[in-house]
Amino acid sequence: MTAATTAQLIDFAYITAAVLFILALKWLSSPAAARHGVLAGEIGAALAVVATLFNPALTEYRWIVIPLIVGAAIGVPLGLVKMTAVPQRTALSHAFGALSASVIGIAEYYVRAPHVTKFGMVEIAMEVVIGALTFTGSLIAAGKLQGILPQRPITYRGQNYVSLAVLGAAVILALVLTLHPEFMRLFPVMIGVALLFGVLLVTPIGGADMPTVISLLNSYAGLSAALLGFVLDSKVLVVAGALDGSSGFILSVIMCKAMNRSFRNVMFGAFGQLPAGAQAVEQERTVRSANAEDAAGILAAASKVAIIPGYGMAVAQAQHKVRDLYDVLTKRGVDVRFGIHPVAGRMPGHMNVLLAEADIPYDRLIEMDDMNSDLAQTDVALVIGANDVTNPAARTESSSPIYGMPIIDVAKAQTVMVIKRSLSPGFAGIDNPLYYMDKTLMLFGDAKAFVGDVVRELSAMQAPAAAAGGR
Ligand code: NDP
Repeated sequence: MTAATTAQLIDFAYITAAVLFILALKWLSSPAAARHGVLAGEIGAALAVVATLFNPALTEYRWIVIPLIVGAAIGVPLGLVKMTAVPQRTALSHAFGALSASVIGIAEYYVRAPHVTKFGMVEIAMEVVIGALTFTGSLIAAGKLQGILPQRPITYRGQNYVSLAVLGAAVILALVLTLHPEFMRLFPVMIGVALLFGVLLVTPIGGADMPTVISLLNSYAGLSAALLGFVLDSKVLVVAGALDGSSGFILSVIMCKAMNRSFRNVMFGAFGQLPAGAQAVEQERTVRSANAEDAAGILAAASKVAIIPGYGMAVAQAQHKVRDLYDVLTKRGVDVRFGIHPVAGRMPGHMNVLLAEADIPYDRLIEMDDMNSDLAQTDVALVIGANDVTNPAARTESSSPIYGMPIIDVAKAQTVMVIKRSLSPGFAGIDNPLYYMDKTLMLFGDAKAFVGDVVRELSAMQAPAAAAGGR
């Protein structure tokens, strides 16, 4: 095969990969097509990698094969983490992606310096700065989500000014290097400052803002990869990085809207700090609780039920029991729908994934706004392990740190039942007035066990003889 034919085939493979990446993103936006989306993305990535291996400029494969084996040895176990650990795993993936982009940018600088063109230096400096800050920022985010670092915002007086000064220093160093690529001693200083900025960027962020930060870091990692594509003159990398960067950015915007927060507020607002006295309020109020038998009786008498799942359902792995509940209620003629909040759980789409795993029909999953407009006509809102996403303080208490965040307004339903183990707060660390309302019944217990008990009670009502054997 001639060199020209090989080059054409490689270009063709890259174009096919780019089309597959675009289709992947399109399909991933619907639960029904998401599996195809994942497959298209995987085939596209594999195609791009294999095509690159055929690049005639590659003469030494040893330094590709060894890291491939090491990377796979680390990546495979990382891919097998529990569903609840996926957000921190995703943050780690962004850290690794950004690290590899910046390391390649650093290598390019040292290969070319001091004879780097101004344009080339702009590309390298931007790519390395964004890659380095994404690396440390993502590590901090993963540490916070894993609980290795404090999850709450870590703040101090004048912190935003310090962060901006550090960012300013990185930008100035990048500018000086662009004008004088031969000032090689400044290059590691610029990297160090960018790494420091990544730490400063994420440590003051916490609470319910973490998902937005993760998707923002996703977009930075994509931007860094796209810039690396310019550095290496790799069109497929430019396309893949741009898609990654823009989709991450769009997701951040969607999440900001879902929490009614501005970017400025997410990045500099130190969200998630517990207001003084928040716990004291909890002790003064009383709650009504019920057992599985009572809950089953209320559900059996309902004609329309809304189930609002949250992080607790994921922790308890209760999705299959929830499917049983859906089946038993549907058989009784009850209209059961699921209200999905965009940031329920610990990652975007968390609830969709779990409910899809349990084969709940997609048309039963209702987005927040549609659910809210239907809740007044709903007999029972059954909250399963959700807390922040149903907290009415977001609507009513202007002093609340989640004030303005859209919620699934379960209090509009005739009766509210909440399955959770205690009155403990959720991710944002704040009390939930929903639990103290007259129309609310607390169903204390583990979500899987409690839903299982309710299903048993309902089955017993339906067919006492069959229920004797249990599920
Ligand atoms: P929350 O974290 O607000 O609440 C979850 C509740 O589940 C807790 O109050 C806990 O109460 C209960 N719970 C835990 N384990 C169990 C169990 N085994 N059985 C029953 N209940 C259990 O979850 P939400 O889904 O309501 O809200 C998500 C929060 O996470 C939001 O603040 C969101 O911003 C944030 N977040 C979202 C991300 C995303 O992308 N979706 C990513 C990162 C953060 P108890 O201990 O009493 O049982």
